[in-house]
Amino acid sequence: MKNDPRRRFLGQMLAASAVGVAPPLFAAAPLAGGGALGVHRMKLGSFEVTTLLDGFIDLPGAVLQGDADAIQRALEAAKTKAPFRTAVNTFLVNTGSKLVLVDTGGAKMLGPTAGRLPQALAAAGVAPEQVDEVYITHMHGDHLHGAVTPEGAKLFPNAVLRVAKLDVDYWGSAAVEAAAPDNQKGRFVPAKRAIAACGDRLQTFELGAELTPGIRSVAGVGHTPGHSCYLVSSGDAKLLLLGDTMHVAPVQFPRPEITVMFDFRQDLARARREELFAMAVKEDMFIGAVHLPFPGIGKLRVRDGGGYAYDPLPWQLY
Ligand SMILES: [Zn+2]
Repeated sequence: MKNDPRRRFLGQMLAASAVGVAPPLFAAAPLAGGGALGVHRMKLGSFEVTTLLDGFIDLPGAVLQGDADAIQRALEAAKTKAPFRTAVNTFLVNTGSKLVLVDTGGAKMLGPTAGRLPQALAAAGVAPEQVDEVYITHMHGDHLHGAVTPEGAKLFPNAVLRVAKLDVDYWGSAAVEAAAPDNQKGRFVPAKRAIAACGDRLQTFELGAELTPGIRSVAGVGHTPGHSCYLVSSGDAKLLLLGDTMHVAPVQFPRPEITVMFDFRQDLARARREELFAMAVKEDMFIGAVHLPFPGIGKLRVRDGGGYAYDPLPWQLY
């Protein structure tokens, strides 16, 4: 063990103090500040899935819709309360032949706590030019703004941006926007910016379609008119990227019937969440969600007493 680095280090320290030289004072290092960039990798069959953290947003207590007593009990059981700090995760899938980014975060359009996808990509060693396809779960700002630079250009110059046709038909419709109340018109901005930036590089698909070998759309309608989840499969390994099928983990896992105010159709959102959670358990899939704590990937299991419990993915080395 002569070359054991700890022993060598200790020896150097003792030698330094013996000749009156002060050892380095490690505790005096300046604080780094700014928060850490989030990059997390997992192997899924022969694919690699990298979670890139765009940042976080705080959701107010009023976001939750449903039985107030049930909500309160779930919050107490989880020892948490509003505001709910939720991550904004994006997922980069390397299928071996394509680099596919699922959702793009909120850029700085949602304030200073999100919009770090470009830095996270750089930290992961990926240039925006390398991304082949970008799949959007739905056209809300915290998922789509990140596809467009502040100047209105595509952030991923070589990528096709793919969005379910039903979502583009709704958020891209001048007639729907004109009919919306004034305080809702801002919600059409992300779609308008992306459509203008991408032109014919924005391509639609039907819910349920296979978009590339190993990744297919899974209908998740309810949160928005064309909300699409994505099932990533390699061999027997499956990861269901849920988009905004859930927002507030401590409440919506144990009580999946609780919805959020942003759900376009509360009844459909509730029913689809229950179906997708049940499917993930039955088929032993990983789930990944934009607003789960980073890295946003884990497994669900049926909880004693109803609902689901969530086990985050353990860190991997491969
Ligand atoms: Zn969202």
